[in-house]
Amino acid sequence: MLSEITTKLQEKTLRFLESPQKMLVNGEWVAAKDAQTCPTVNPANGTVIAEIPIASAEDVDQAVKAARTVFEQEWKYTAPAEKAQLMWTLADLMERDKQVLMELECLDNGKPLEKAAYDVDSAIAHFRYYAGWPTKIEGNTLPVAGNRMAFTRREALGVVGLIVPWNFPIMMAAWKLAPALACGNTCILKPAEQTPLTALYLGKLVTEAGFPAGVVNVVTGPGLPTGEAICAHMDVDKVSFTGSTAVGRRIMETAAKSNLKKVSLELGGKSPNVIMKDADLEQVLESVHWCSFYNSGQECTLGSRLYIQKEIYDQVLEGLIQKASQLTIGNGLENPDLGPMISEQQLHRVSEYIVKGKEEGAELLLGGARVEGALADGYFLPPTIFAHQNDELSIAKEEIFGPVAAVSSFDNLEEIIHRANNTPYGLAAAIWSRDLKQAYHFANEVKAGTIWINGYDMFDAAVPFGGFKESGMGKEMGKSAIDLYTQEKAIWTAL
Ligand code: NAD
Repeated sequence: MLSEITTKLQEKTLRFLESPQKMLVNGEWVAAKDAQTCPTVNPANGTVIAEIPIASAEDVDQAVKAARTVFEQEWKYTAPAEKAQLMWTLADLMERDKQVLMELECLDNGKPLEKAAYDVDSAIAHFRYYAGWPTKIEGNTLPVAGNRMAFTRREALGVVGLIVPWNFPIMMAAWKLAPALACGNTCILKPAEQTPLTALYLGKLVTEAGFPAGVVNVVTGPGLPTGEAICAHMDVDKVSFTGSTAVGRRIMETAAKSNLKKVSLELGGKSPNVIMKDADLEQVLESVHWCSFYNSGQECTLGSRLYIQKEIYDQVLEGLIQKASQLTIGNGLENPDLGPMISEQQLHRVSEYIVKGKEEGAELLLGGARVEGALADGYFLPPTIFAHQNDELSIAKEEIFGPVAAVSSFDNLEEIIHRANNTPYGLAAAIWSRDLKQAYHFANEVKAGTIWINGYDMFDAAVPFGGFKESGMGKEMGKSAIDLYTQEKAIWTAL
């Protein structure tokens, strides 16, 4: 398995892959107590890359105990500037080993190297942005009546569980770990079972950076038993989760049934991408295919509902088909435009939606069938485009999480605002128009956590991100994440 890829990988990547994969608990690399493992598979060819431990509730408990002990005895008294320095060092080590992180992400997730580079850069940027925060988290003094004084402190929550998905493994880990550490918490990071490798490598860098043992623990395994054990644990103060809406609901239930731990959720979406007739068409045609197919469609903010105003419908649709059909597909290490679906299961799930799209009457304009030939061992699907005029179709209203665009035309702005809002999701939306008055009206009226105007997928560590409606609760990134990982205490004095 490794032999076919050895020529392309860095020596350091190979050494990491050749050593047995263990979890980071209390600064030690350990196997699961019951020695259970599960394979992590390269989705580009179906081969097993490595066996990873499945942490049981007992293993999770060990990690939580370590995190609690170091929190109470050391980390909460560590100077903010020292925390900041550790985070800077970690970011520098990630930069040093950027190629290794990219290669691991590429093997484990399938994504193209260039896209993995973007993810690693974003992860590094998050550690650097949040390294500025430990020294700046402040409380307030408050204007209370009488001869009394009141002030607030912003304190760490304590032990936090960070559960991340497989579509942007290192980036999602950083979006959570960086603010959680900046706020003074100790952490149990659980990567998705499909993509544990970059989180484990990050664990090595955390140790090298000099974080005290137990401040960051990395436990691996599936939702059951590992993720659930974190969510049910009576001594975990908060769980931050990114993943499907179904699992998000379950996590809230588990939190409610255990110690009512705080929960923040980044969940699914079905984001509308709206092209008005006065848009800069050259700009639209340059990027509209990326809005629909980035990361092979495995992206929560994907512009999976593409709405084009009827006067320019034929022109934009034709341009989209042309650009999409030119996208290259292949093994991420060869840096194509698109990699595979994450797993055979995801391939089937998306393929079922394609069948439903045809059965329910949408018009298939491009793609639709698994890529065969040299790529038949991997889980590849080509860009797939459906045209329709019925927002009730499964492909038009459910999150597919694959390279499937549902394209429809519309008459006017009020109609499209109504259709954009006609969904239980509210993660993101975009509008392309030269008329900013019109664009801001759309931005004000559409119920979504992020609105992009004349662009798509714009992110920055400083800008809050999170869903409205069933797309989640709580905002990650920016100053907002400081509220997410701290709690406010009011202190009164009678004078
Ligand atoms: P998933 O919900 O199955 O898994 C996500 C993570 O949760 C994994 O680490 C998994 O092991 C864990 N998990 C599963 N069951 C659990 C349980 N009962 N208790 C605790 N943890 C559990 O989702 P996925 O298939 O990995 O990711 C795809 C989904 O995530 C899509 O619906 C997508 O829209 C969503 N997503 C949202 C965002 C966002 O920022 N809003 C980002 C990425 C993905």
